[in-house]
Amino acid sequence: MAFDFAQTALAWFDQHGRKHLPWQQNISAYSVWISEIMLQQTQVTTVIPYYERFMQSFPTVTALAAAPQEDVLHHWTGLGYYARARNLHKAAQMIAVEHNGEFPTDFADVLALPGIGRSTAGAILSIAHQQIHPILDGNIKRVLARFFAVEGWTGSKQVENQLWEYADQLTPQQRIADYTQVMMDLGATLCTRSKPKCEECPLQIECLAFASGRQAELPHKKPKKTIPIKYTTVLIPMLYERVLMNKRPDEGIWGGLWWFEGEFTSEQQALPTELAEANAQFEVAGQVHSINAVESLPEFKHTFSHFHLHIQPVIIYLAEAQAGEAGHDAQGRVAEASPNYVATNLQQWVDYHQPADIGLCKPAITIFNQLQHR
Ligand code: SF4
Repeated sequence: MAFDFAQTALAWFDQHGRKHLPWQQNISAYSVWISEIMLQQTQVTTVIPYYERFMQSFPTVTALAAAPQEDVLHHWTGLGYYARARNLHKAAQMIAVEHNGEFPTDFADVLALPGIGRSTAGAILSIAHQQIHPILDGNIKRVLARFFAVEGWTGSKQVENQLWEYADQLTPQQRIADYTQVMMDLGATLCTRSKPKCEECPLQIECLAFASGRQAELPHKKPKKTIPIKYTTVLIPMLYERVLMNKRPDEGIWGGLWWFEGEFTSEQQALPTELAEANAQFEVAGQVHSINAVESLPEFKHTFSHFHLHIQPVIIYLAEAQAGEAGHDAQGRVAEASPNYVATNLQQWVDYHQPADIGLCKPAITIFNQLQHR
């Protein structure tokens, strides 16, 4: 009898598939959407606590649409790829306005939402509404590239088109939600990038990579391109237990998150000489502080998809400003004893022992740890 890919996978799913993940309970298009976006480039075990907190704070599309962007980014702190959170928020606002707060059920409408591609749209509609759509995320590309021994890098258009054709042909007309799930399970639990568990795999009998012992070679790696190194010297003005942070523009790296001052350059940066001068001063929101001391923290590296960034944090210990009107601290309280505490939409003093509920990128969290343990 001919090998039936879908039925074989589904039979395995009935016995071994994952059925107890938080987003597999009380399934809705909204819950599948949030989990699918969080799971892009992120492991299930990392996602679970983020997913639970997110759903608790934003249980519906309308709740998400109504939340301030700051709050949404805060729930994403540490997950990386922050464009995902900004797109979720934007898409929720579109759904609120254009679809009356109901997650759309039409494939083209779902695909039109920011941050949702063909595979994610297919996953949401097949799992939540049993619509027949193929899916092809990074894990499934790997399974199919090995099963059919597809040559070439799966990120190239030509190979991707070929994999979509296979995905389409294999997608069954029945049990589509379970099939979508099992394809994700096979990619995540058996046909893993390194050391796939072929001995447990239901597809082994027909898998071309297994038959030829090419599991390690397939799918082919992305053609090598060395990514450049950039440098940034991060200036961290500190007054008492607080550090001055700036909100980054919405577009670009760490969009909408809070970070410190510092340019990204291709050459290593020396510390600005004026900081080391006697009587050096630093201006914050129009108030002049003298500098008590300057201290470098250990350098560390952060890697983006297109460059490595070497980060050199430098604390600038400030003295109280000489004169000025009473300002507000990071919580909005008037800080009479500290006239230089200001808070604006784009700049605020943040207690590094207890960063407020603001969106922070991973390197900012590393710097907070360094500050606490120096
Ligand atoms: S037999 Fe191995 S390589 Fe082939 S699909 Fe299964 S786990 Fe992947």
